[in-house]
Amino acid sequence: MPEDYYEVLGVPKEASQEDIKKAYRELALKFHPDRNKSKAAEEKFKKVNEAYAVLGDEQKRKQYDSYGPEGFNQRFTQEDIFRNFNIEDVLKTMGIDFGFGSFGGNDILNNMFGFNQRGNEGDVGSDILAKVDISLLDASKGVDKDIYVRHVIRCETCGGSGAKPGSKIVTCEKCNGRGQVATTMRSPFGIMQSISTCPKCGGEGKIPSAVCRSCNGTGKMQTENRIKVTIPKGVDTGTRLRVRGMGDYGKSRQGDLYVDVNVLKDKTFKRDGSNLHLDLHVPFYIAALGGRVPIPTLNGEKEVELGEGTQNGSTVTLKGEGMPRFNSTGTGDEVINIIVDIPKHINPEQRDLLEKFANLDPAKKRKFGIF
Ligand SMILES: [Zn+2]
Ligand SMILES: [Zn+2]
Repeated sequence: MPEDYYEVLGVPKEASQEDIKKAYRELALKFHPDRNKSKAAEEKFKKVNEAYAVLGDEQKRKQYDSYGPEGFNQRFTQEDIFRNFNIEDVLKTMGIDFGFGSFGGNDILNNMFGFNQRGNEGDVGSDILAKVDISLLDASKGVDKDIYVRHVIRCETCGGSGAKPGSKIVTCEKCNGRGQVATTMRSPFGIMQSISTCPKCGGEGKIPSAVCRSCNGTGKMQTENRIKVTIPKGVDTGTRLRVRGMGDYGKSRQGDLYVDVNVLKDKTFKRDGSNLHLDLHVPFYIAALGGRVPIPTLNGEKEVELGEGTQNGSTVTLKGEGMPRFNSTGTGDEVINIIVDIPKHINPEQRDLLEKFANLDPAKKRKFGIF
């Protein structure tokens, strides 16, 4: 048994359009996928929109009232119900605009409903995706990178008009200059007369007498472009950046370019979020005596004072010498892991000195039974 749309919106059968709209607005806000990520909320959001797509449209509502939930469900598909109902636009006119936050916001809706929600939006350029490799050092400082993308741009010859340069502009014969054409179509809601934008002139009412040869009148062309992308400091592998308007060209909206960042493995540092780790090899005599040792950092070489008796496996932390935090403030630390090196070969003179050293430690000498 299909759910009753009036119950879904929580309004009585005799509710006014104003009441229905109000109820829908409240529920759409409550269950919107940007606010409420649960699967149950998604289902609710779908139901609420389906109910409003029908009850919010006087003609569809009449059909629904006469057939009842069961009969209506048998007669109309989801596509019939959502025809000319663009959720994002509907919400926008009600002052709700989440922008759906991330890449493929419309995809969320498309996936949710299983068909394209942007069908009626005109000529919208597609979003495109590119990848970029950067070094750890560049990731720490931020960097401008040139990337090459193939995308659709406005035709350079005709400036997007589709007209051959110098050609005359004449009245469109399909619509007689009105820019609109009337079509009659059979829909599940009866015979409908609909006025739509003239497909030949795109609503201009005028068309060029000759077509641009570079783009065959489409006003668009494919090209490879170098695009400078500003990569902010602190990015990590998996960070996705958006460059507005650098996707495919569309007459009503330009697509965006998305760039997936890959930070290459570094020879010196291991990264752990905003902290960097580094293995530092120290000769055993420096570890025993203490001393100043040079340490590589992202900001050049620094000297660090090791104390007398520094142990193998101990760590030294350089505050603030790590990676800057992405989209946040502050910087991580550089953590130095000390590895004490014992020489594999010693010459007679060194042996002599070490034996002298050992003789000054009688307890050890007895215990280990050397000499
Ligand atoms: Zn052209
Ligand atoms: Zn026309």
